[in-house]
Amino acid sequence: MRSGEGADLLLRSASVLDPVAGIDGPHDIVVRGGVVAELAPPGSADSERMEVVEAEGLHAFPAFFDPHVHLRVPGQEHKEDIETGTRSAAAGGYCGVLAMANTDPPVSTPADVEALRESARQSASVPVGFLATVTRGMEGEELTEMAAIRAAGAIGFSDDGLPIRSARVLRRALQYQRLCGGTLALHEEDPELSADGVMHEGSASASLGLAGIPSVSESTMIARDAALAGYEEGRIHVQHLSAAASVDAVRGAKEAGVRISCEATPHHLCLTDEAVRSLDPWRFKMNPPLRSEADREALIEGLRDGTIDCIATDHAPHAAEEKEVPFEQAAMGVTGLETAFAAIHTDLVLSGVLELGLVVERMAGGAEPFGIERPTLTPGSEANIAICDLEAEWTVGAEGYESRSLNSWCADRTLTGRVLMTIAGGQVAYRLRSFSLGVAP
Ligand SMILES: [Zn+2]
Ligand SMILES: [Zn+2]
Repeated sequence: MRSGEGADLLLRSASVLDPVAGIDGPHDIVVRGGVVAELAPPGSADSERMEVVEAEGLHAFPAFFDPHVHLRVPGQEHKEDIETGTRSAAAGGYCGVLAMANTDPPVSTPADVEALRESARQSASVPVGFLATVTRGMEGEELTEMAAIRAAGAIGFSDDGLPIRSARVLRRALQYQRLCGGTLALHEEDPELSADGVMHEGSASASLGLAGIPSVSESTMIARDAALAGYEEGRIHVQHLSAAASVDAVRGAKEAGVRISCEATPHHLCLTDEAVRSLDPWRFKMNPPLRSEADREALIEGLRDGTIDCIATDHAPHAAEEKEVPFEQAAMGVTGLETAFAAIHTDLVLSGVLELGLVVERMAGGAEPFGIERPTLTPGSEANIAICDLEAEWTVGAEGYESRSLNSWCADRTLTGRVLMTIAGGQVAYRLRSFSLGVAP
């Protein structure tokens, strides 16, 4: 993240909600030098020489943390880069993201990681952690120099975009992990089963005549990898869970004592394969695919009971020419950083499916699986705060995007709930243009 002054400001009379810290109620939040200095009774904190944000009627949450984004650097800067991707994250209320390594070329060496970290120091709006690939060039054969890559500052390892096809290779990676640490983040898919599928295998794919990707393509690989992690006592994080059987597999592994965590995306929590009947690849083509209503309900149950640790966007920017083609040929992936909270708030909180506190907790839950401290509003902590207006309605894309790409799964939808301001790493990372600040005399 770009270096700058720690923020000094007073968030006046905000509704503060930090379920993990047990904070729920109106407070003045005093941020001094980029640190949460004090939570005071509303209207009581001294505002002298402080920038004052009138936050009455607004909510202050611990800022969100996304363990799964694609910043497309190096090699695909026409889709996204560190500057636009982290601006997009800041606009979504995030105070940190983890960038995937399936770039062009993939991030596979200590020098690759060092170059990215340097670049983030120049241009990132929020702190970025980088993962490196598990296998050289993501070819699935030879391991990268995991220990040297960790020493260069990689947070963990992932071949995301592709599964690790070989159990032998994953087993060796788990053995190396014992020496060097770093969570292994796994894109779970059996390529023999997903083959050339373009959407979920179910009644919608049958009536559209499109090749399907069955749920077992994901769940069987999770079962295999959880068994390997248990056997080697490794630490794995399962990415973008999409199917009911996958939730069951993770739940069973957790009960058996495997060191496993997992994430689900807003689009898998809010949509089903019925949306694919529109044949709109911009919004509804991604991997893993949108699945059935029963799968979606199982993901929600997994969030509720703690099987699913966190919400992650799998923010995957793509260029227009990869999406302006027939559904079968279009690239897989959607963007999600700017809309994650608002979409879940609109579709799942306002409808009474999920509690606001649970959503706030899981939106920041992606830090701990990677050994990063969870954002909190506890006094004494670095300021990582998302200020939201839960009543604001806005149309996604109407004012453009911070992201360089347009493939938002929420494009043109009107959502309720908006991030007005984000403080990340102690600095003001984002302010909605129309959100003005009152400055104390
Ligand atoms: Zn993936
Ligand atoms: Zn991904």
